[in-house]
Amino acid sequence: MTVKHCAGQYEVDFLALHDYSAEIPNSFVITDQNVDRLYSKSFDPLPKLVLPPGEQTKSLQFYSLGLSWLVQNGANRSSTVIAFGGGVIGDLAGFLAASYMRGVPLVQVPTSLLAQVDSSIGGKVGINLPEGKNLVGAFHQPRRVIVDTSLLATLPNREFVNGCAEVWKAASIADENLFQELEEMPLSVAEGKLQQRVRRSIEIKAAIVQADEFEQTGTRAKLNFGHTVGHAIEAIAGFGTICHGEAVSMGMVQEAWIGERLGISEAGLSARLERGLASQGLPTVAPKIPAESLLEAMQRDKKATDDKLAMSLLVRIGECKLVTGLSKKEILSMLKEARPISR
Ligand code: ADP
Ligand code: ZN
Repeated sequence: MTVKHCAGQYEVDFLALHDYSAEIPNSFVITDQNVDRLYSKSFDPLPKLVLPPGEQTKSLQFYSLGLSWLVQNGANRSSTVIAFGGGVIGDLAGFLAASYMRGVPLVQVPTSLLAQVDSSIGGKVGINLPEGKNLVGAFHQPRRVIVDTSLLATLPNREFVNGCAEVWKAASIADENLFQELEEMPLSVAEGKLQQRVRRSIEIKAAIVQADEFEQTGTRAKLNFGHTVGHAIEAIAGFGTICHGEAVSMGMVQEAWIGERLGISEAGLSARLERGLASQGLPTVAPKIPAESLLEAMQRDKKATDDKLAMSLLVRIGECKLVTGLSKKEILSMLKEARPISR
């Protein structure tokens, strides 16, 4: 699969990792301890930096450590950084590649479902600051993305289900057939269609990113379905207590409900989403959070303006649009309403 961007294009290749790992001189591998424990020989004999797993690693401290490691190991302007891990490693190693010597080539080898279907595609890389998530970063497109879905067999179940939320989201915004298939059979590592479904999700993300590489036209905002409310839930619950995908799952149901109440989404949409996501093992009901706090956190969303909110809402399954100019007062009253729960 080819993904185009302003400066060129790159391939997303579905390969067994061992078919790839031999061919790359002058490359520097960055990974985390969990992935390294399971796949320690994959890139031998390339130099490898093994970092602690977890969101805390996306920090200035490990960014700085990574830069020093690259210098000390003789990385130069034509060296390639290989990001071998989940979204955390993809973001950190990607930002190292974006900034080291004003930018060196990057290859993404995502090992989590979330990273395969979402974060390794589209060129967004970055780290967190103590003041907030993803406050420093860049657009740095990879030279290549290697997707080996057999790596997902070792992913803890909660992490697998976490990534599923983005596949359901992709289907919700762009592909009703895929959504119906997921309704008939949720994702699992054991089923034969996993790679095909991962590929379809990547296609959906790639098409949207290609249409709006730098988030300027509003097209890319479609990928944010479920995320306006989802990010707010994640921030209030405390990052780490609820996984990203879990918060997005809750967010999608809430936003579908808001869409229905606004007359934008077709009736029954939130109940349909809720059934599907629950069948995947995703939580759909947010922890008790006062609507006022939720709204306040939603106002920090980058789509919001001074007195209005913007949200990507579904017209129906398979069709999404960015709706701007939403009154905060109206959204607050919808957030306060009891929502019908289908189960
Ligand atoms: P993300 O969900 O954004 O990918 P992380 O990079 O933190 O977030 O990855 C989630 C967790 O899964 C981490 O603990 C990571 O070490 C672990 N992990 C990633 N890929 C695999 C894999 N293929 N097998 C086992 N654990 C993995
Ligand atoms: Zn997301």
